Amino acid sequence: MRLQSFFLLLVLSVCVCAQTKEVAITIDDLPLNGAQFEPVRLRKMTDNFLAAIKKHQIPAVGFVNERLLYHNNEADARIAILKSWLDGGVELGNHNFSHLGFANAALADFEDDFVRGDAVTRLLMRPNKPRYFRHPFLQMGKTAADEKAFEDFAAARGYKMAPVTVDVLDWMINAAHAKARASNDEAMVKQVGEEYVKFAAQRFDYSEQVAQELFGRPIKHIVLMHANELTAENLDAMAVLLKSKGYKFISVEEALQDPVYQMPEKYLGTSDRLGHWAFSSGKKLSPPQPPDFLQQPYLENQRNRR
Ligand SMILES: [Zn+2]
Repeated sequence: MRLQSFFLLLVLSVCVCAQTKEVAITIDDLPLNGAQFEPVRLRKMTDNFLAAIKKHQIPAVGFVNERLLYHNNEADARIAILKSWLDGGVELGNHNFSHLGFANAALADFEDDFVRGDAVTRLLMRPNKPRYFRHPFLQMGKTAADEKAFEDFAAARGYKMAPVTVDVLDWMINAAHAKARASNDEAMVKQVGEEYVKFAAQRFDYSEQVAQELFGRPIKHIVLMHANELTAENLDAMAVLLKSKGYKFISVEEALQDPVYQMPEKYLGTSDRLGHWAFSSGKKLSPPQPPDFLQQPYLENQRNRR
């Protein structure tokens, strides 16, 4: 091979490699993750999400907790907001009714909460049907038998499980964002947003690195995000950053076609798939953590709740 063609081949293979970074974006706890607020503000948050999704043509799935529709006598407004996700091209999935975790629930209770979880969504989606389920807290059943029983039950109702491979911890960092907003500290709101995007990029890099170590190739990732103001206001910046890193946005359906999601593994009760695969191969994971000031408000909230 002539040296020139060798270099051309090298450049081409680097390009192909860069193009193989793929991620499906999923957004949990619709219509609103974290502390609840009024419909006008919720509408604005949702519009921010939908603008970024449209701008970057992101084929996202949003997972609904229908209990959140019945808040403060705002059901009509909240259902209208849920519908606007669909109108904005986002597919809706089931995150069960009350955000019940499977680790501490009986199978029958978990199945009931799942069935109750899509009543409104199913009506809004007609003639389509919800087809993905996301486990709250990423908690799967205590045993492989419990989990299999639930997945068979869900499959009979047309559902597949939607695991995750990247968690950007926005459910945690959102508390710092909300605290800054509540005290009208716009400089801090901005700083939290910028640090969040930076931290998310570290989490993506880490998941790529772990996938490379476990499988020797990039995999089709699924990222976990939440319906909160932190992600709503920073999804555009995050998408720009991900594109600059060579990512292509794919659907959950495309992501699940990666054969790694069918790989046999030892049972671990979490939808964190990199966690599963690492556990199966005896690898210990130590993902990067956000800076302290992004964690503290969440931890304070947890302490006050006790
Ligand atoms: Zn959730």
